[in-house]
Amino acid sequence: MSIVYSSHYNMGLFGLEKLHPFDTKKFARAWSLLEQELGATLAGWHVEVDRPITDEEMLAVHTADHLLRMRDSHALAKAFEIPAVSLLPFSLIDSGFLHPMRWATRGSVIAARQALRQGLSINLGGGFHHAKPDRAEGFCLFSDIALIVAQLRADGSIQLESRIAYVDLDAHQGNGVCHQFLQDARTFIFDMYNEAIYPTSDLVAQDRIDCRVPVPIGCEGEYYLEQLKARLPAFLDSITRSGDVALAIYTAGTDVFAGDDLGMLALSAADVLERDQFVVDQLRQRQLPTVMLLGGGYTSESHRLIATSTKAILQRHGRQRRSSQE
Ligand SMILES: [Zn+2]
Repeated sequence: MSIVYSSHYNMGLFGLEKLHPFDTKKFARAWSLLEQELGATLAGWHVEVDRPITDEEMLAVHTADHLLRMRDSHALAKAFEIPAVSLLPFSLIDSGFLHPMRWATRGSVIAARQALRQGLSINLGGGFHHAKPDRAEGFCLFSDIALIVAQLRADGSIQLESRIAYVDLDAHQGNGVCHQFLQDARTFIFDMYNEAIYPTSDLVAQDRIDCRVPVPIGCEGEYYLEQLKARLPAFLDSITRSGDVALAIYTAGTDVFAGDDLGMLALSAADVLERDQFVVDQLRQRQLPTVMLLGGGYTSESHRLIATSTKAILQRHGRQRRSSQE
């Protein structure tokens, strides 16, 4: 397996990023924890990202209008939910926020290609599951998830008729992904989310989910894991039994952690670890090439949860190290 990461993922804008609960350096913090714990062996799994994704590539999953708006400070302030951003020149927002997201989006595509080669890959970034074809939402500008599928289909890495399994366990419903795959009957969506928080009003997205598992606000680990273990295996069995699944994409948002003000669920650190191990085990038991993306996570502990899950997954599935880079 491999771990895809670039120091370019980390965001920063003169401290303005602190106006949003998102820890914009969580990627670097997770990486440095992994370095501390795994030492030099980490390099054996690491795959670097070669470049940021381009607008031209993103036209495969976004409208030209959307990409144009991503060059406007006012539209970006809305997408980031930081009004003060509208006062800044675009060039600063571009280097502080957009550029990191373009690198992480490219990282997701590289990680997916690694997953096809090796079975399993983790991008220490990405999982922008609120980005719709024509608009940015919820801190998600570019749909790395849709782009993975579009690029791998376009170059024949996965067959057009093959299925995709998408598992979204971020605390928020992955509405952008639903809109991206609204007309795509080959992509099967499992989404477990807090039913009381954004984006509750997006009924079109909710209707698109193939296996919908809403959980109540404040939901604790015991009930959460019980629901996951009751529903995910049956979902995976049903889609693998009736067709060939070429790739599984797992958005492993850590905003399910207790104390996360945006996720508003109550899983312990041990619960998050159990969740991630369970999902990866279920996917790999069925021999599905699996790419794991980070999604949301807005506490000072988010990076630690990411590092703990990554390390445990490496220990269980990491015997096969990375092959050549893309
Ligand atoms: Zn979230």
